[in-house]
Amino acid sequence: MTELLYMRDNYIREFEATIIGTTDNSIILDRTAFYPEGGGQIGDKGTIQSDSEKASITSTKKIDGAIHHIVEGPVPFTPNQKIVGRIDWDQRYECMRFHTAQHILSRYLQLHHGLQTVGNQITCGNSRADYSPLDSIGDDMKLEVQDGVNSILKQNLDVLLTFMPRKEATNYLKEKGYQFRYLEMVPKSVTEFRIISVGAYDAASCAGTHVANTSEIGEIRLGKTKNVGAGKRRLYFSLVSPRE
Ligand SMILES: [Zn+2]
Repeated sequence: MTELLYMRDNYIREFEATIIGTTDNSIILDRTAFYPEGGGQIGDKGTIQSDSEKASITSTKKIDGAIHHIVEGPVPFTPNQKIVGRIDWDQRYECMRFHTAQHILSRYLQLHHGLQTVGNQITCGNSRADYSPLDSIGDDMKLEVQDGVNSILKQNLDVLLTFMPRKEATNYLKEKGYQFRYLEMVPKSVTEFRIISVGAYDAASCAGTHVANTSEIGEIRLGKTKNVGAGKRRLYFSLVSPRE
């Protein structure tokens, strides 16, 4: 079992660990800050380095419950070696900004348009989420949603991670009026839920990586939209960095 450092701290860029297994093209560690592809978010890239060797990690994936750091070329390590892992921070930090923005966009569309989030994909530069029931979205609605989400982002809300037993988490989200139906899709083997709260505005169960405050996100821009099935519409969005 690998200890998941990113579950409790999303800002770890560098960490020490021990190799507990290798395959032809991957490394398994006793602890990792690399986020594995899942929950709509892409896996982390970076490097893993020992005293004498260094490997580029092209992606991170969860396979049969184990977290595999996928290597470019042959694996230059053997089990029990001590290593230092470094995350490609530019890509990861962008994912954090996009993922928190998607939670706020979803909450806004739930509150003001009665929509449920039925899918999402968090990648660099352009992310998307699917909403239902929504057949079309006009320019007026796009602008209204964009302005509404940006007014939330501007409030510099703290983003907190808390942990709750499964049942308690479901009841908490239900009672507070946050979305909870997607929780049924989480495998029964998951007994502890990680709740991401954005001020008092939103709370959601999510294992993804998030910024610590909405001031880090910048502004949202809604892009094209696309029909993805009866009553389902995909919304693409980008972000203008607060540093721009
Ligand atoms: Zn999420």
